[in-house]
Amino acid sequence: MAQTRFFENVQKYVEKAADFTKLPKGLIQQIICCNAVYQIKFPVRIGNEIQVIEAYRVQHSHHRLPTKGGIRYSEMVDQDEVMALAALMTYKCAVVDVPFGGAKGGIKINAKNYTPAQLERITRRYTFELIKKGFIGPSLDVPAPDYGTGEREMSWIADTYISFNPSQIDAYGCVTGKPVSQNGIRGRTEATGRGVFYGLRQACEDKDDMKVLGLTPGIAGKTVIVQGFGNVGYHSARILQEEGDAKIIGIAEYEGALYNPNGIDIEKLKKFQKENNTIRGYPDAKFIAKSNDILEYECDILVPAALENQITKENAPKIKAKIIGEGANGPVTPEAEDILLKKGVLIIPDMYLNAGGVTVSYFEWLKNLSHVRFGRMERRFQEGANMNLVNLIQEKTGKKLSKLEMEKMVKGADEIDLVRSGLEDTMIYSYESIHEIWKKHKKMDSIRTAAYVNALGKIGEAYLEMGIFP
Ligand code: GLU
Repeated sequence: MAQTRFFENVQKYVEKAADFTKLPKGLIQQIICCNAVYQIKFPVRIGNEIQVIEAYRVQHSHHRLPTKGGIRYSEMVDQDEVMALAALMTYKCAVVDVPFGGAKGGIKINAKNYTPAQLERITRRYTFELIKKGFIGPSLDVPAPDYGTGEREMSWIADTYISFNPSQIDAYGCVTGKPVSQNGIRGRTEATGRGVFYGLRQACEDKDDMKVLGLTPGIAGKTVIVQGFGNVGYHSARILQEEGDAKIIGIAEYEGALYNPNGIDIEKLKKFQKENNTIRGYPDAKFIAKSNDILEYECDILVPAALENQITKENAPKIKAKIIGEGANGPVTPEAEDILLKKGVLIIPDMYLNAGGVTVSYFEWLKNLSHVRFGRMERRFQEGANMNLVNLIQEKTGKKLSKLEMEKMVKGADEIDLVRSGLEDTMIYSYESIHEIWKKHKKMDSIRTAAYVNALGKIGEAYLEMGIFP
């Protein structure tokens, strides 16, 4: 699929939102553009030949440092795509109050065509190229996982960076999404999916919005189709099902889609996919060979959680979902959005809905800088205080709690509890902020525009406070 207009699409969204702000035109232009674009071509020995690898790192905005954003491995990577994704990171961080500028990286490869050893060589060489130009570092630019990368790649990046900066005490903060054993944080892998869940649950709680859609408030029982069964799609579907009681009726992957109107058991499907390396042949759902057809099926919520440009002006008129939750970055084009909004579809935008990943990355970075696990200092103290309180209540009321009740009441928060709670709070508070902007402006077409207005306000303020626009 052509990727050439992705950055322009993001720009269009920003320009639309800018009309609702009082920020000077020049400042909007400064916010829109990419501050630094680094294109690299480096040689890697693959088998008997030398391959020239094309890669990028784009720092979209330096209004806050470090800059932050994932690194993707995909054949579709090009400068336009990385610029657009970097820009989305800036707005995303602003919406969820994560104090970073936006960045993104990409290596133009299909990771499936390389052995782990070859991928390690490519990743380490790419990291070295970033080090050479100051495009990585805990106070400069902090990569993370994205499409085609995960914990493994992040630990190679951390190890390479540390090898070149052995005396830097905060060196582990040079990248997030690391394995827990390599100074990562519990809950980072599921974070984007968990954020999608919290965000959709929040959106479905609004009685008025649900009434307009002809839906009852609450996420429980809502029918959901998820496109993508990688990290974001899988965890979104799993948590929507396990904690939200939503009914996942469709899952789309690149090799085809699965449909079952009675619901698909997500854990069972993941197990099947791991064992067979495909979702094809899963016994408890109907297989649909043309994967994207399922996007047009009847459902309450459609979650595109794969790649950009999936809902376009071609398929938008046929979409029947009442809510679209953008788990991926840029899955709906501006032309498609116009069509969907006219049809009354509620779109929960990427820059808010998939911000769970970078939110927990921020927690990981804080952990790396503070060199202490969240909860370590206070958990036991908290448990002691809770215990005293429970004992006092038991004494005064003469009632005894069961062992299970006691455990629940007394338990102090450990790292995973704090990460989830911090993420939940972020997703709820941010939704309230953007929803309020949307409701305040009668003429504002979408929650996306409201999210951009929210982000522009914060970024604009940061620039103005720097004093470079006297
Ligand atoms: N790649 C993820 C995103 O697009 C996470 C970025 C990060 O954690 O820095 O939001």
